[in-house]
Amino acid sequence: MSLAKSYAVSLMGLAGTLIEVEAEISSNLPSFVLIGLPDASLSEAKDRVRAASHNSGLSMPARRVTINLSPASVPKHGASFDLAIALSIMAAGGLVRSESVAKWVHLGELGLDGTVRQIPGVLPALLGAKIAGFKHAVVPLANLAEAQLVDGITVVGASHLRQVAKLHGAEIQSDECTNEVHVPKQAASQTTPFLIPDISDVIGQEEAIQALTVAAAGGHHLLMVGPPGAGKTMLAERLPTLLPDLPLREALETTAVYSIATNRVALNSGSLITRPPFEAPHHSASVSSLVGGGMGFPRPGHISLANHGVLFLDEAPEFQKPVLESLRQPLESGEVIINRSAGTARFPARFQLVLAANPCPCGRLSGKGQRCVCSQSQKLSYAARLSGPLLDRVDIRLAITPANPAQMAIGNQSQVERKTSALARVEVANARLAAAERLSQTPWFINAQVPGPYLRNQLKTQPAITSQLDRALDRGVMSMRGYDRCLRLAWTSADLAGRTSPTLEDISMAIYLRGSENPMEPR
Ligand SMILES: [Zn+2]
Repeated sequence: MSLAKSYAVSLMGLAGTLIEVEAEISSNLPSFVLIGLPDASLSEAKDRVRAASHNSGLSMPARRVTINLSPASVPKHGASFDLAIALSIMAAGGLVRSESVAKWVHLGELGLDGTVRQIPGVLPALLGAKIAGFKHAVVPLANLAEAQLVDGITVVGASHLRQVAKLHGAEIQSDECTNEVHVPKQAASQTTPFLIPDISDVIGQEEAIQALTVAAAGGHHLLMVGPPGAGKTMLAERLPTLLPDLPLREALETTAVYSIATNRVALNSGSLITRPPFEAPHHSASVSSLVGGGMGFPRPGHISLANHGVLFLDEAPEFQKPVLESLRQPLESGEVIINRSAGTARFPARFQLVLAANPCPCGRLSGKGQRCVCSQSQKLSYAARLSGPLLDRVDIRLAITPANPAQMAIGNQSQVERKTSALARVEVANARLAAAERLSQTPWFINAQVPGPYLRNQLKTQPAITSQLDRALDRGVMSMRGYDRCLRLAWTSADLAGRTSPTLEDISMAIYLRGSENPMEPR
């Protein structure tokens, strides 16, 4: 009887658990047993490992092979355990050095010919291995760029099983690739040299652009109501261009979510995502595609792919009610918890929400609204689809009207003076810095996160400044929530202007941005 072991990582959400892969070769009749709660896709590892070993000239011994994956209580899925299983068997069979194999984490799926195939989730898996104290890992060559984002771990990219066997001392010829050890470099911050789209593309919407800048600076959620063709989508797509680059920690988290979203692997080149993402699901999206889920092992949804970026729901009232309701908990906590039979997964979901809506089902209820063909009850039920609790979280409610020909003409002429996203991004970054300094003793760092009581009691503004709001509150034309929203927006406006506290001008701006209590309500 001989024993050996290696290591792999099981992912649940973004959390990686180190899995010990033990191999035992005993003198019983030839068989291959896999134990330790593997799912169906992992059980097939037996056939892949057997064929890959044989075709690499490293045949498995004609005896009983038992593989134990522990801890047994941790659910395991997918094909990423293949490489660790193959290496632990080779170590138990004396083909490679067992003390070497036991020090490495092996991640990779095997093809029947022995090629090492790309797998999802290498970045979060290596972060898990690093926390567990591992210093060396083999990953598929196709995942090497992504793996190198984790510093403190030496990673080797392998394209064939023979190459990994040779790394651990197998006496074979391998000319697939050199066993070049790639020393991880400091994650390079790759700021995209030019960002398309740009707010300078938007003509004749100065107020909307100002609102977008305030939204970016304070992290405020935003609702835009306007007829089709008014430019709502164009504006929403430009919000990410106003947000500053992601700090390393947030960039790693965003890249990690993309790494496990299997449908995005093709798009994920392995480089660090340093710009805030933009997600725009269609209004036919299901709850599980929006918040995450799926059969068996939970996958991240649009809200997690929009983490540290923007989630845009165009034609928001057309989304199914349960889909919109499912946003409430993540908006509150900044993460989503998904329970499935396979286990409980947590995904980050700290996104900025942008909702767009037509003023009515036919979309023509703007201006004087004379061409609208909707009945009053149709308009009411349309407005009611955006629920109060969801709208409560939206600080900015903006009516968007299409730019008229005169504005377009002026806008086209003054092309040189139009503000670019790059310029606005600097203003936004400075405003965020000012807010973060003011809030340094609190758990919050952007104005949108600051709760009402703190705004009213700790961040006191002079009564003369807030008198307009106080009067509106006394007369009952403004709710307490609306009052707090105005204060939050006024602080962001002041931060953008470089003022240390809001002025009357900032309050007026806030009242304009806040819009009406329910901007969807038919007039
Ligand atoms: Zn209508």
